[in-house]
Amino acid sequence: MSKQPSSYLSSKLEGRPKANGSGNGIYSLEPIKKGELVAVFGGVVYEWDAFIHLPDRERSLCIQVEDRLFLVPRPIGEGDYVNHSCNPNAGLSGQIGLVAMRDIKIGEEVCFDYAMSDTMPYDEFRCGCGSLNCRGLVGGNDWQKPVLQKRYAGFFAPHVQRRIDAQRAEQKALEKARRSAKTQKYASKIPAPAFSK
Ligand SMILES: [Zn+2]
Repeated sequence: MSKQPSSYLSSKLEGRPKANGSGNGIYSLEPIKKGELVAVFGGVVYEWDAFIHLPDRERSLCIQVEDRLFLVPRPIGEGDYVNHSCNPNAGLSGQIGLVAMRDIKIGEEVCFDYAMSDTMPYDEFRCGCGSLNCRGLVGGNDWQKPVLQKRYAGFFAPHVQRRIDAQRAEQKALEKARRSAKTQKYASKIPAPAFSK
């Protein structure tokens, strides 16, 4: 079996242990421009039922790529060390690409927000990202938060975007139904025209 990692990491970055000893992260070695590709995830695709029985470490390094489908790195490489941040500098491009959301300086840790890919509760945790806007608890339903949908527009995985679109269509249909119910109520109060013979 090839020793080459299943993921790709741009040569402008490296994976290394975090200074605070809380695991690994990826760091920029050169300035990175907004929109630049920094990593492409790879691996083996598991369905939810098999995926939830994998060891914790494998599950924590995976990325959700579709409804109930998960990409697990084999073998693990530096590109799989991307962490979550509630104030990320990178976002998803498609299912497996990671791009800079803004210019990134040398030495910055490159992170994305797991709300961009996750719709299932397989990796819920108390966040210690230290951002001013840290939401504390990161969970599988965070993609539903309107503030995150607005902030990460264009950076969600396609399967998450489909759910956001479906949620919006549902809300629109509900509002339309509510409006038409109101109009009907109003219409029923208008006296029927009197016809004279
Ligand atoms: Zn956080």
